[in-house]
Amino acid sequence: MIGSSTKPHLYSFVIPVYNEEAVLPLLFSRLDALLPCLDGPAEVILVDDGSRDATGIIAVDRAKNDPRYRYMALSRNFGHQVAITAGMEAAVGDAVIIMDADLQDPPEVALELVAKWRAGYDIVYAQRMTRIGESRFKLATAKAFYKLLTRLTAVNIPENVGDFRLIDRKVLEAFRAMPERDRFVRGMFGWMGFRQTAVPFHRPPRAAGTTKYGWWKMLRLAFDAIVGFSDIPLRLALWIGTAVSFGALLYGIYVLWLAMHNADLVAGWASTIVILSFLSGIHLVLTGVVGLYIGRIHAEVKARPLYFVARSIGFDAELPIYTG
Ligand code: UDP
Ligand code: MG
Repeated sequence: MIGSSTKPHLYSFVIPVYNEEAVLPLLFSRLDALLPCLDGPAEVILVDDGSRDATGIIAVDRAKNDPRYRYMALSRNFGHQVAITAGMEAAVGDAVIIMDADLQDPPEVALELVAKWRAGYDIVYAQRMTRIGESRFKLATAKAFYKLLTRLTAVNIPENVGDFRLIDRKVLEAFRAMPERDRFVRGMFGWMGFRQTAVPFHRPPRAAGTTKYGWWKMLRLAFDAIVGFSDIPLRLALWIGTAVSFGALLYGIYVLWLAMHNADLVAGWASTIVILSFLSGIHLVLTGVVGLYIGRIHAEVKARPLYFVARSIGFDAELPIYTG
């Protein structure tokens, strides 16, 4: 009989997949080579985020024939961050490794993440030292975004860190207690604390297929991050409002002064229009900022489930006895 202290660790890989038919076979062969190198059994949870290509067929086939693989299909495309969340909620491992399907997060780095975890860290994130094959535009916008984010928020979100990381079971439990709808997962981990450390790695280009993060999704992620972790835009609204009213007050005094000293005032049409349109512009912006937050409150108050699972396969399969 083996005591619990010598029981091998169980690892869970959480991998969101969205239209990744081109990449899945490559991913499987890399994982098949990697999993036996771990010091315990592993489950691989493939979260199908509403794929419309053959992703589901390929993944289901795997989950049916290999007890290490589990497949869950969300009822539609909920987005990367929710897909990760769904996978984490299904994971049973002592340590959970989150990574992208496209091999931009090289599976082998997981061994280094595990080593740090064994050394006592609760969250081990993989930090990109280089990013090959990303457009200059993507790199520049990402950099500007993280600068802005660290300025605007009190949360420490390390630079060059995506969602590729390992988390301990207790962090997973804590994460599950955070039910917010608009999710920026890496920010949530930053906010949580625990013992965190980084493992550097070189990020290769996508192994196959094309990016699933279009313009719109990136912009949404940026908004979720800022609105979710900062109330500075709200306070900014107050400051701008105050500054503009102060300016308007000074101008009012000036106009009064003119009226008292000079009767010829009819030529004021241009300035009236300019000031009026300027102020209504500011007004609209500020209303919009407030609206962003109210929109979030609205989403939270509805308290809908984050996602629905349409189909799941392999979750009841026993993991093969660990022999490594
Ligand atoms: N992804 C997802 N749902 C989406 C968009 C992306 O599950 O709506 C997955 C995708 O399959 C991949 C990971 O999230 O495994 C990262 O996406 P991608 O590689 O396209 O993003 P990029 O690396 O270009 O930022
Ligand atoms: Mg990618």
